[in-house]
Amino acid sequence: MAYPFRQKSRPVIREFDLIRALHKRHGHRTPSVIQGIGDDAAIITSRAGQWTVLTTDLLAEGVHFDLRTATMVDIGFRAAAANLSDIAAMGGTPQHLLAALAIPPTGTSRQVHQLYRGMMAACRPHHVGLIGGDTSASCSGWFLSLTLIGMAPPRQALFRSRARIGDLLYVTGTIGDALAGLRILNEPPARMKQHPPNTALSTRHRQFLIERHLRPTARVAEGRWLSAHRFATSAIDISDGLSGDLRHICEESHVGAEINLRALPLSPACRAYAASRKLDPLDLALSGGEDYELLFSVSPRQQSRLEQTALKQGFPLTCIGTTRPLRFGIQALSPHGRYHRLADTSYKHFT
Ligand code: ADP
Ligand code: MG
Repeated sequence: MAYPFRQKSRPVIREFDLIRALHKRHGHRTPSVIQGIGDDAAIITSRAGQWTVLTTDLLAEGVHFDLRTATMVDIGFRAAAANLSDIAAMGGTPQHLLAALAIPPTGTSRQVHQLYRGMMAACRPHHVGLIGGDTSASCSGWFLSLTLIGMAPPRQALFRSRARIGDLLYVTGTIGDALAGLRILNEPPARMKQHPPNTALSTRHRQFLIERHLRPTARVAEGRWLSAHRFATSAIDISDGLSGDLRHICEESHVGAEINLRALPLSPACRAYAASRKLDPLDLALSGGEDYELLFSVSPRQQSRLEQTALKQGFPLTCIGTTRPLRFGIQALSPHGRYHRLADTSYKHFT
């Protein structure tokens, strides 16, 4: 794309100055990087016999984020967390990041730097370095596509397709929080007044939920741990909502599932939000994506060892159900003790 291009009363972004600045700020080297930013392509070494794990994600302004409710730092952070979470769900260790960016006419280099600040803040705890990317102009809105490269020891990776009938289903952390956070951000300010003080959400809960939406934590350590100990027979990250992501495991593994709704891990903040808005928190937990928690299956023989070590490691896990034969379908056991088919209420593009 032709650069620099004119922007109405805004400083012109100079592509190569921008790339040089990104390189200087974020292009740190690790021993496995032979060539980082600055050539036609990056070169990395990989340890002999290790598997390479790759994932990519595209975020489009207006579809995945809204600049009225999220800062550029938040958007960068969330984009990186989504990719880290994909590697986590495979039981891999994330290592290298590539970032492709399309900047709208209103965009500034300051915003680009903020975006990278968020991305690298999510990556830093995992020692993931930026090794390349691409920069273009966009005629309409921001686009950010991240590619994350990682590794996994051979035969330790976690797949969606290996759950067996009778396995226990677990989730990490709590679910539904990010959706509640997103809904809070999208509420018109006046709406707060409609809630009498006794049902209003405390500032602490409100902030917790917004934080869960804007700054999700990928369960990288948990994914590595599940794969290294061979605890999980299958795994997926909850990016679109439990009711849909569970379906992926069931379809790929050719099993059915029974979910105990009473067991779903809900945070006190999510419960408080649901109560204050007269919603069922279970709906948030079943349809809310972007918590980036892991859903995984475990052989019942591993249950006590899994739960004991999780406790020692401080990994929050909850058993939410069991896999069943395919013909059972996917059913939920309601808090009233009745079974019903679990509807897929997860997030869908194009609908
Ligand atoms: P080419 O024309 O060969 O695509 P570029 O000029 O786009 O090369 O890129 C030069 C170098 O800068 C490459 O190493 C590329 O990976 C890196 N790069 C370009 N844009 C970005 C970006 N937005 N973030 C990180 N690295 C980038
Ligand atoms: Mg390029």
